[in-house]
Amino acid sequence: MLNIGCHLSTTKGFENMGKEALGIGANTFQFFTRNPRGGKAKKIDEKDVAGLLEIAKNNEFATILAHAPYTLNACSADERTREFALEMMADDLVRMEYLPNSLYNFHPGSHVKQGVEVGIDYIVNMLNTVIKPEQTTTVLLETMAGKGTEVGRSFEEIAEIINRVELKDHMGVCLDTCHVYDAGYDIVNDLDGVLEEFDRVIGLDRLRAIHLNDSKNPFGSHKDRHEKIGEGNIGLEAIKRIINHPKLRHLPFFLETPNELEGYKNEIELLRSVYSE
Ligand SMILES: [Zn+2]
Repeated sequence: MLNIGCHLSTTKGFENMGKEALGIGANTFQFFTRNPRGGKAKKIDEKDVAGLLEIAKNNEFATILAHAPYTLNACSADERTREFALEMMADDLVRMEYLPNSLYNFHPGSHVKQGVEVGIDYIVNMLNTVIKPEQTTTVLLETMAGKGTEVGRSFEEIAEIINRVELKDHMGVCLDTCHVYDAGYDIVNDLDGVLEEFDRVIGLDRLRAIHLNDSKNPFGSHKDRHEKIGEGNIGLEAIKRIINHPKLRHLPFFLETPNELEGYKNEIELLRSVYSE
């Protein structure tokens, strides 16, 4: 079975996200751990989380993916911003344990003219501070499009971060199809080649989730604008090959396409119809 969900709004609570996922034919979902612009997280309501866990268990949900706020920038030039990133992630990881064995994805950040090596030092330092041996959450680095001074634009940058994390058993990667395409990895014409490169540089065993998005921009544009499935430059044929690829087909796929719930429901239906069981 295709494990697929989309990004859902947290505002109505965990149990409601589980119900919404079911309502649109999903068997997992992604959510923000707090306001995407950052700020204080809502207190966890244990009864609400228990409601979600019950839904997930009864419906054999695939692993759920949490997403850190976009404002989290562990490699900012500003010290206060770096401290804030560390505090947010530490707090998120404590709260993630209410949803045991889940995934937590974050954008590596932007080094803002300090250079990629300085940026990677800061990111590694944060991860080595916040990741605890007893946590059940796997922290995922997201592959980025390479907009501005983004870190994570190449598999090499992602690999360097993981290699320097002490508790690397708790580390993985979330591959965003729009981002890697915009970064210059040709998943349309050479998916096998890209996956071989991923395996050689990072290791495919680190790949734990896929952000499944089409791209508004052409190959190698370093832009990062998501498009609806089949309506962008990646196109439905390539997306079909991605979800059916023997090295990817078991992974959870998460849509972050510009859609409301109804649009997500249609995309999930479409993708299930082209997934070969
Ligand atoms: Zn993404």
